[in-house]
Amino acid sequence: MEIKYATCGIHDYRLKIEPLGVKCSRCRVNEAVVDIKYARQKLCKDCFNEFFLNRVRRTVEKYKMFRPGERVAVAVSGGKDSVALLHALKKAFPQQDIIAIHINLGIAYYSDHLEEVVRKLASMLEVPLEVYNLKEREGYTIDDFLRTRYGRKMCSVCGIVKRNIFSRLSAEVDADVVATGHNLDDTVGTMFASFFAGDFESISRLRPVLRPLVPGQPRKIKPLITTPERENLIYVVLNQLPVQSCSCPHALGASVSYYKQILDRMEERNPNVKHQLLSVFTKKLIPMYEFYRKHEEEKEKKEEVLQTCRICGQPTSSPDGICSKCRRVMELQKVMDRPLILELSPHDAKKLIEEGAVVLDVRPVGQYSSGHIEGAVNIPRERFDNLDRDKKMKKTIREWKGRNILVYCNTGTDSYAVTVKLRNRGYRAYNLKGGIEAWKRAGFPVLQPAGSD
Ligand code: SF4
Ligand code: ZN
Repeated sequence: MEIKYATCGIHDYRLKIEPLGVKCSRCRVNEAVVDIKYARQKLCKDCFNEFFLNRVRRTVEKYKMFRPGERVAVAVSGGKDSVALLHALKKAFPQQDIIAIHINLGIAYYSDHLEEVVRKLASMLEVPLEVYNLKEREGYTIDDFLRTRYGRKMCSVCGIVKRNIFSRLSAEVDADVVATGHNLDDTVGTMFASFFAGDFESISRLRPVLRPLVPGQPRKIKPLITTPERENLIYVVLNQLPVQSCSCPHALGASVSYYKQILDRMEERNPNVKHQLLSVFTKKLIPMYEFYRKHEEEKEKKEEVLQTCRICGQPTSSPDGICSKCRRVMELQKVMDRPLILELSPHDAKKLIEEGAVVLDVRPVGQYSSGHIEGAVNIPRERFDNLDRDKKMKKTIREWKGRNILVYCNTGTDSYAVTVKLRNRGYRAYNLKGGIEAWKRAGFPVLQPAGSD
């Protein structure tokens, strides 16, 4: 079993699951397929599932995340972590009142695919699902922020929008608790980074359970906080769960955090290091910091004054009473009437080609060699990952400044991501709708290698 998993925010993740050639350390009957180094166990599929679900059960119980009878809203994006979370919670707590919530962010070549994944999973598990369509409910999409100064920081604006809407949506569905799929690696990686930045407030927000800022709001829980990222993916693959199969176009080139890489290196020497760090942070550092903060607040007799946002009603500490999400949306609304043409049909592209546009093929070299548009330059999508550090690439594309660039691949997905990246760097790039087949239909000469038909 092999999966090429495209993640949200990081590069492609490949995972191969195959028999390890030994019996399972638990049942000693079945062939082991998963090696859990920190637990010194090699497990078969059934025992791995049991191991995974037991840990979710233990985490929920240890941190008193929810009680029987409470309504648990699970924020499901369609990525491996949230898919594993919904499935595991339903299996580990079959009697619990669970509802899935999902936001369709309106990101081209991405969001509709994710919504389909989440719909499939919810119906498979017979869990009710509430979908919030950003375009329908609020009149804009995440892609629309490309018009604003946030174009190069899409993940940050997207994160702010998602947090705000998940909070409102979980209250709308009357949830007592909202569960998110934060895994061990992301949590410890972020804690580590915040620690070096001296940002203890952010570390404290990474607790397994966050009480609501204002009464009446659901509390936030992270049942997978002790589960390594890799195991979420293994769980999804072994149980053949629907999961996202393409990356977000705005994630192109977003690198794995430096601190996550350091932690991976440390793990090679000490397989338990991530669990140990999580425990030090949650048991020692966060309580110490909170004690200190309380003391400081009492000393200075000041407390953070929270009010509700004048527009959306969510808690905010901003003095003008407008939360950070609503402030960004207000900025967007001012420029919403600016045209944003990111895609062209081959028919519309024809004129630009006649005027000397660059045709950029971002497919792998092998696909390019087996047939491409006449005159197309081939630079595979991956080369755009390090655009800001790759001097040769920078030099190549600098020559295209001021010219129209028509980008294409087979499906439009990778070429859309490259188009967005070039646009954010001031290039006049357009994605070609319909991929290479549409070009052929529109009568563009497609060069085939000698000997093929
Ligand atoms: Fe994830 Fe960033 Fe895409 Fe939002 S914009 S879905 S945070 S990768
Ligand atoms: Zn607001």
